[in-house]
Amino acid sequence: MATRSEIQTYPPLAERPIKNTIVLFDVDGTLTPARLDASPEILLLLSQLRQKVAIGFVGGSDLPKQQEQLGDPLRVPVTSLFDFCFSENGLTAFKLGQPLPSNSFIKYIGEDNYKDLVKFVLHYIADLDIPIKRGTFVEFRNGMVNVSPIGRNASNEERQEFERFDKERGVRREMVERLRERFGHLGLTFSIGGQISFDVFPTGWDKTYCLKHLEEDAKKDGGIEYTTIHFFGDKTMVGGNDYEIYEDPRTTGHSVKGPEDTIRELKEMFDL
Ligand SMILES: [Mg+2]
Repeated sequence: MATRSEIQTYPPLAERPIKNTIVLFDVDGTLTPARLDASPEILLLLSQLRQKVAIGFVGGSDLPKQQEQLGDPLRVPVTSLFDFCFSENGLTAFKLGQPLPSNSFIKYIGEDNYKDLVKFVLHYIADLDIPIKRGTFVEFRNGMVNVSPIGRNASNEERQEFERFDKERGVRREMVERLRERFGHLGLTFSIGGQISFDVFPTGWDKTYCLKHLEEDAKKDGGIEYTTIHFFGDKTMVGGNDYEIYEDPRTTGHSVKGPEDTIRELKEMFDL
């Protein structure tokens, strides 16, 4: 039996009724409830919206997570549901199901710089005098490195103890200062978050990264210049992962409290 999406067709991007407009969505908390799957209602609404404008998602997680949240409910590839798919803020990207150039932390800083960074971090942690250490002090992800002085294998209780200790002693703050002195010239951002770790990633590799793909695409044969870029997100406050793209002058930002909010606003804006 064919699912709805298999039989669904859309006008080519250049023939959408509102041609120079794209609507981009954060995933978690915007299209889906936090960490859960998208509802049939919002998936249907997106397919209706796609008849009128180009649509895309831009999520911080990797593609398998977005497949699980957005594609699996309809048993189709998530890349068939959106004109543009931006996983990991666009480091992994697709247009009409076809991959666009990808990027990674190592591609950006180079193997030698990466090796120096890891060497420095492991030496620093080896010499660090803190009450306990566990394992996995450096976790390499495609777009960033996550560093934890206690180690990511710490139990929940150990994490809480470290967080208290760190509040008093500023272990992470001091480590980040040393790293900034040594590696700041590589254009890296150091971001302390959660209980036990901090992230290191190239400056500007937030959700605004995906806008590069749209700009590149506009220059190509048959590419479209999107003069209106709507963005819907739930973490649009300073420090939230939607903040930069929400505030970016290239986008029109919409702050929502959850999928119901997104649905309501889309229906009003696009007469769906
Ligand atoms: Mg979100």
